[in-house]
Amino acid sequence: MSPASPSANPHVAAMSAYVPGEQPQGGGWVKLNTNENPYPPSLRALEAIRLALVNEGAALRLYPSPDSSPLREAAARFHDFDAARVVAGNGSDDILNLLIRAYAGPGRPVGMLDPSYSLYPVLAAAQGAEVIRVPIADDFTIDPAAIARCGASVFFLTNPNAPLGVSFTPAVVRKVAEVFPGLLVVDEAYASFAEGDCVALARELPNVVVTRTMSKAHALAGLRAGYALCPAAVAALLHRVRDSYNLDRLAQVAAAAALDDREWLNITVGQIRSTRDRLIAGLRQLGWMVNPAAGNFVLAAPVSTSRAASPETAAHCFEFLKARKILVRRFPNHRLTEKSLRISVGTEQETDVFLAAVAVWMEG
Ligand code: PMP
Repeated sequence: MSPASPSANPHVAAMSAYVPGEQPQGGGWVKLNTNENPYPPSLRALEAIRLALVNEGAALRLYPSPDSSPLREAAARFHDFDAARVVAGNGSDDILNLLIRAYAGPGRPVGMLDPSYSLYPVLAAAQGAEVIRVPIADDFTIDPAAIARCGASVFFLTNPNAPLGVSFTPAVVRKVAEVFPGLLVVDEAYASFAEGDCVALARELPNVVVTRTMSKAHALAGLRAGYALCPAAVAALLHRVRDSYNLDRLAQVAAAAALDDREWLNITVGQIRSTRDRLIAGLRQLGWMVNPAAGNFVLAAPVSTSRAASPETAAHCFEFLKARKILVRRFPNHRLTEKSLRISVGTEQETDVFLAAVAVWMEG
């Protein structure tokens, strides 16, 4: 007789895993579903990896810097921030997890905007923490007083918002920080594509953390690197709960080199913003309802002469595109997203292919 399957922690047994965007196998896809960067990373990042591998990879025998010094120092240079208050993570998802480990748990809820990033509830569930959702209004505004009284120990304010694409001004975020009694985390995964950011708030205020990723503007999603800009006391706590070597040697040096290459960042981000504007204009011309877009993606509700905006229309358009190997993303579970598709900003050519396919769908 084989032994019975051992019982897990009840809160873990009851939770569901995060559902990542599809990563299709095989070539030929126009992949506009996971907000990856369509351009390659900085050549300096590749050079840093090559350098770290000299002498037949001898350095790989040795553990990396435990606190990711090369990346922390580059992030400090990039943001004019104190390196002692930068904590590096294996992707910003790692940072989000550390924040929840340190600040949430049973009786200490996690707060988030609704809609926003669907990983937060998964990380909260893993720590046995309740989730409190504060709605974004139909006009895409947020209510600082509602966040202030929501009862969360830590609140995630995704800015620019994903999946809506809209951003909140630093003045509004400051208002939230001034009234919210817990730790306010501004998830700035997409901030490089927007007009402003909240780094100054993390510099000044004792209850604001800004999280950043190397996956989007820096085109290093495959490497897994991100970081948090924190008050000193928060940084100290995150260091206690992180894995002892949470970033590998190659990720540390490549991410640092990418941060130091501002020129490549400016060129590629400039191109993505300009393609984003063209994508928005193209869709609006076809009559689609398009949200203001501050990130490297656009949320837009498909319509055609024969179909009004609806969840069914969005599903129909999604399947039509998928059959032509164009992959976008749907968010059918929220009233502000159910009629829409989220389209990552690709290259100029990918955008042409997408817009041409949409024009064909419009005729159907
Ligand atoms: N925050 C938001 C809002 C995101 O959309 C993502 C990417 N899915 C992340 C954080 C995580 O990015 P990464 O772990 O790749 O740094």
